[in-house]
Amino acid sequence: SAVFDNLSTNLEAIWTKLRNQDVLTRENVKEPMQDIRRALLEADVSLPVVRKFVKSVTEKAIGIGVIKGVRPDQQLVKVVNDELVSLMGGSRAEIEFAKGGPTVILMAGLQGVGKTTACGKLALYFKKKGKSVMMVATDIYRPAAIDQLLTLGRQVDAPVFEAGKNIKPAEIARRGLTEAKKQKIDVVIIDTAGRLQVDKAMMNELKEVKSTVNPTEVLLVVDAMTGQEAASLVAAFNLELGITGAILTKLDGDSRGGAALSVKEVSGKPIKFVGEGEGMTALEPFYPDRMASRILG
Ligand code: GDP
Repeated sequence: SAVFDNLSTNLEAIWTKLRNQDVLTRENVKEPMQDIRRALLEADVSLPVVRKFVKSVTEKAIGIGVIKGVRPDQQLVKVVNDELVSLMGGSRAEIEFAKGGPTVILMAGLQGVGKTTACGKLALYFKKKGKSVMMVATDIYRPAAIDQLLTLGRQVDAPVFEAGKNIKPAEIARRGLTEAKKQKIDVVIIDTAGRLQVDKAMMNELKEVKSTVNPTEVLLVVDAMTGQEAASLVAAFNLELGITGAILTKLDGDSRGGAALSVKEVSGKPIKFVGEGEGMTALEPFYPDRMASRILG
C-alpha cells in the first residue's frame, strides 16, 4: 500500500540529516523535529496530536548519543517508533466476546464509509475462526442496503436476518437477536443506516438499537480518506453513542494515513480493524507496532 509512502520518504530524509551528529541536543534536533511535524501534518494527522507527539519525541531525543556504537539517527528512529506505537494504543485491541449468549456487534458510521462491506468482512473473519455468524439488516432507508447485505451474506456463507423496510430498526434488531439466540449463533453483526452527516435522528435511532440489543461491541466504521475528520468523527460518536472501537476503511486508497495515527489519541478508543480493499478478505486486525513499522518504511 502507498498510504505511508510520503511520510516514510520524509522521515527517511530526516534521519539522513542527522547522520553526522554525535549527540542530539535541543539545538540540532530543532530542525528535524520541525520536519517531523511537517511530515505528520502532510499525512493528515490532527494538529493537537502532532504537537503532543513532537513534544514528547523532542524530550526523549535530547541527550541521545551516549550509547556507543549506535548512531543517534538510529536511536531517534527507535524513539519515534516507540512513540508511534504508543500513540496508536500500544498493543492490539481485541474484539470482546460475550460471556454467555451471542456476541452482538453494532456497526455504526456515515453513509458510504464501507459499513455494510465491513459487516461482510467481519462475518467472514469470525467464520474463519470457527464461529457461527448472523448479520442483521436494519438500514431501512437506503433502497439497496438490504439486498447488498443479503448478497454479502451469500458470498461469505452467513445467514442474514431481515424484516423489510416497514418496521423500526430497533425492532428488527430485537427480532434478529431472538432468532440468533434460537439458532445458537455465536456472533451477531448488526448493520445500521448511515447518513451523510452526524444528525440527531441517526444518533437517536442508533441509541435505540443499542439499548434494545445491549451490544458487546459498538464499532464505528470510518473512512481513512476523510483524514483528520475521521478522528473527530470517532470522538463525536464516542461522546454521543458510546463506542468500543473503530474500523478504519479504505487504507488501500490514496488516503494519507493520518487517521490511523489520530483516532486513539483523539477519542480514547482503539482502531480494531483496518479495511484495505473491496473484497471480503480485505480486513486486517490493527496492530500498532506493525503500523509503526509500515510508517517508518
Ligand atoms: P456503507 O454505505 O457505509 O454501507 O458503504 P458500503 O459498504 O456500501 O461501501 C461503499 C463503497 O466503498 C463500496 O463501493 C465498497 O466496495 C467500498 N469500500 C468499502 N470498504 C473499502 C475498502 O477498505 N477499500 C476500498 N478501496 N473500498 C472500500
